[in-house]
Amino acid sequence: MLLQDLRQTWELDSVFPGGSESKELLTEINWTENEAKELAKKADSFTFSNETFLSLIKELQSFSERLSTAGAFIGCLIAQDVKDKKAMALRGRLESVYAAFSNVGSVIDQKLMDISEDAWKDLMSFPEYEHIAFSLNERRMNAKEKLGISEESLINDLAVDGYHAWSTLYDLVVGRISIKVEIDGNEEELSVGQAENKFSSPDRNVRKDTFEKFVQAWDHEGEFCAASLNHIAGFRNEIYRHRGWEETLKEPLVINRMQEETLSAMWNAITSQKEIFVKYLDRKAKLLGLDKLSWYDVDAPLSSANSKMSYDEAAQFIVEHFRTLAPKMADFSEKAFLDGWIEAEDRSGKRPGGFCTGFPTKKETRIFMTFSGTPSNVSTLAHELGHAFHTDVLKEMPYYATNYAMNVAETASTFAEMIVADAAVSNAKSKEEKIALLEDKAQRSVAFFMNIHARFLFETRMYEERKAGQLSVERLCELMEEAQKEAFNGALEEYHPYFWASKLHFYITDVPFYNFPYTFGYLFSAGIYAKAKEEGPSFEEKYIALLQDTGKMEVEELAQKHLGIDVTKQDFWLKGIELAAADVEEFLALTEE
Ligand SMILES: [Zn+2]
Repeated sequence: MLLQDLRQTWELDSVFPGGSESKELLTEINWTENEAKELAKKADSFTFSNETFLSLIKELQSFSERLSTAGAFIGCLIAQDVKDKKAMALRGRLESVYAAFSNVGSVIDQKLMDISEDAWKDLMSFPEYEHIAFSLNERRMNAKEKLGISEESLINDLAVDGYHAWSTLYDLVVGRISIKVEIDGNEEELSVGQAENKFSSPDRNVRKDTFEKFVQAWDHEGEFCAASLNHIAGFRNEIYRHRGWEETLKEPLVINRMQEETLSAMWNAITSQKEIFVKYLDRKAKLLGLDKLSWYDVDAPLSSANSKMSYDEAAQFIVEHFRTLAPKMADFSEKAFLDGWIEAEDRSGKRPGGFCTGFPTKKETRIFMTFSGTPSNVSTLAHELGHAFHTDVLKEMPYYATNYAMNVAETASTFAEMIVADAAVSNAKSKEEKIALLEDKAQRSVAFFMNIHARFLFETRMYEERKAGQLSVERLCELMEEAQKEAFNGALEEYHPYFWASKLHFYITDVPFYNFPYTFGYLFSAGIYAKAKEEGPSFEEKYIALLQDTGKMEVEELAQKHLGIDVTKQDFWLKGIELAAADVEEFLALTEE
């Protein structure tokens, strides 16, 4: 089928008609507010029997589906028009519902723990729990590792002002930073995000000058940032100590449903293969006329040889290439384009970035992005379609079997992106364009294998050292620079010691260690992609089965069951790195003089 004259705005009325004025939406929000109260009462007075438990679980799941549908809908409204005040007020109401519902969750967790081991085992063997036993077991186990309900709820309440507040304070500091630079004789005042964008400017003077001013700005706010980071880490360490958890990585590993062995195997494999990426950085330096790259050169463009695509062309290109390896994903994407599931129009007033969101009660998804025709837009579109496909293959599962962790969340999206990126390289119209596309892939590998590795090394060491007391600005800079030198194998001339201050991810209090899951997702999907290329389109059935299990097992079991792979061993990770290295080899060959 030829995809042409596609609509570029999404269709939302079939979910709730009328946008933020929707009566149906208002009725639904009223319902969630009342129902959250009802559920709180039910949870408090719950007495266990097989029947009462099953009916409670059913009710909780159906409530969650309706709440997340309403939440996703409001998210879409705000994304398409950041000034939609009505939608923002509705979001405020839903946030209170989320908070009330999370307290219901804590009460339920307590009740789960009270059920005897034998009764629990019996219960979980019933067919009704086939898909959700993993998630319920996990909840029960996690609750057992924590303190009692009164202590945990005290921690939650105190965390608002004593923990999350440090993250909010950090956001305030970032928001007031303004970086003055001179570009083409004009003085410009840049926000942190705008300054970071200048690191991919083709003009080295702009990059270097912006970087110097950027570092000065962070140096100026260093004491604030160091205080925030010290208190966030201190709070977290203290909770772990009270719970009797010795390892800082315990919580992030549990959240990502993976073992420490798997994480070490991944990093060890990466560490053993850095040389080729150092060669890439050295070649890039040479191409830019430098001896060695500095931190602010890593994302610099080599050329501007990028051809643009229209939206229709991009849709056609994506669907066509999905079809070679994943025909079902191709059909699904075609339908998404035709049915108005994608908001891609290039207009002002939209929020930046891209995302994919789902309406569980409707069994539908929507994709949000702004399409202006660049190769990176095409990958974003493929990326989000990968996420949407993942949600789609899970749509018949009970709600508790549809929640997957961050490390596997990026598997389907990266897989989809890899298909399209490879196709783009082989379809490149000139040598220059090919080099630019390969460079793009190499840059991503450097981000996952070096930059994120540095964040991981820094964060692990910082949390360890924090146990003995607060770290000064100087010490944080020292730790950061050491981690960067190690992760980049000394390939750079100049590093970014204030990265601990400028990177927001270290200040996210809801998710600890917001770094290694990215690298995991990237390499995990590279491994799957390698298999798909080996086996061709028939592999898709296995791929879908794997996606369908992402919400109900640990990653080690997931990989073993569907790929016959042991992720606790380096072999698997090495194969993924080999794929990335092959792109670099090609880049090196094409740029040899
Ligand atoms: Zn993603």
